[in-house]
Amino acid sequence: MSTNEEKINLLGLTLPKMQAFFSELGEKPFRASQTLKWIHQRGVVEIDDMTDISKALREKMKAVAEIKLPLITQELRSNDGSCKWIVQVASGSSVEMVYIPEAGRGTLCVSSQAGCSLDCSFCATGKQGFNSNLTVAEVIGQLWWANQKLAGFGVKPAAEWDESGARVAQNPRPISNIVMMGMGEPLLNFDNVMDALSLMMEDQAYGLSKRRVTISTSGVVPAIDRLKDFTDASLAISLHAPNDELRSQIVPINKKYPIKELLRASSDYMSTLGERRVAVIEYTLIAGVNDHRQHARELAELLKNFPCKINLIPFNPFSLSDYKRPSSSSISNFRQILHEAGYTVTVRTTRADDIGAACGQLVGEVGDNTRRSQRYADAAAQRITVQ
Ligand code: SAH
Ligand code: SF4
Repeated sequence: MSTNEEKINLLGLTLPKMQAFFSELGEKPFRASQTLKWIHQRGVVEIDDMTDISKALREKMKAVAEIKLPLITQELRSNDGSCKWIVQVASGSSVEMVYIPEAGRGTLCVSSQAGCSLDCSFCATGKQGFNSNLTVAEVIGQLWWANQKLAGFGVKPAAEWDESGARVAQNPRPISNIVMMGMGEPLLNFDNVMDALSLMMEDQAYGLSKRRVTISTSGVVPAIDRLKDFTDASLAISLHAPNDELRSQIVPINKKYPIKELLRASSDYMSTLGERRVAVIEYTLIAGVNDHRQHARELAELLKNFPCKINLIPFNPFSLSDYKRPSSSSISNFRQILHEAGYTVTVRTTRADDIGAACGQLVGEVGDNTRRSQRYADAAAQRITVQ
């Protein structure tokens, strides 16, 4: 093993962990904020470029540490301004991250795992199975790269607007919002994701508002129960069905943690946040599966004591799936029923599907379509044998 592999990667250290690192070197804690700013705000990747740190200390740091970024292997830019990058991680797999520009904000959809073990029936990532957990550096490295790349394209920093439309703040970098909605289940890579969230919200690093950093989960209840001790980020629940029978068919983890427990854990977490913050319920609409008017009525009833907004996501097709996206009239009927029941409902517009970056299409391949089709065919064959 080369000495390099044994070095500490400073990119993945939270403020307290960076302070511990400097204290081990016999240095003052303020070195930690200095270093975080160099790496995350100024984008420095060489310890020698940290010019307000003495040469002697830099040598000491270099002997035991380095700044190591995940590798970007491909970049795709959509006609609608979205971008997708394929990121190679240490396990040898690749994951995807997607940038979605909207008026006044720039959202980055971040991956937490290569593949996913939970196998939701409508999700391309789930079809791959689980490959590996991303390290803290690989999660935060996505945000590091996206800010650098977008600044390089000339994308202006995202402004923040209040409800009346007045500009209240200027985010210093192009990304103002993070959604942990890329590949993987963030709560099954708990410790690394918590550290990465802490860097996202840390003033010495990215300083993003807790309201603008969202964890999306398909319902790992014991992990939701632990969340409040680690973060105050926003929460999105991937519900997708109004009753256990249907949910267990399309989101298998529901068999272990049914809806009632999921809503209980989520409400407990939301109540610790206070400040009138509400969870987002995500509901992928699949034609003929969960998009009936009766499902909408049942959903309205189910959520009546659960403070939330509802985000409807029309299913995005991919090659291994026979599911179909509902017609626009059925989407709007579903929306209307929830709206009339008093919910705030948004329908997610499909972005970036020209580059395969819409929700649920993320597979992290490196452009080798022959291998991809073969893997899909293999996976399809396996599923048929299993059933
Ligand atoms: N594992 C986490 C986060 C990643 S999935 C979770 O499940 O919440 C992010 C979102 O994309 C989820 O709401 C998921 O249900 C949705 N999604 C997955 N596949 C989709 C597809 N084919 N079409 C539309 N949305 C999809
Ligand atoms: Fe995993 Fe989320 Fe996809 Fe389900 S929807 S398989 S939890 S990534």
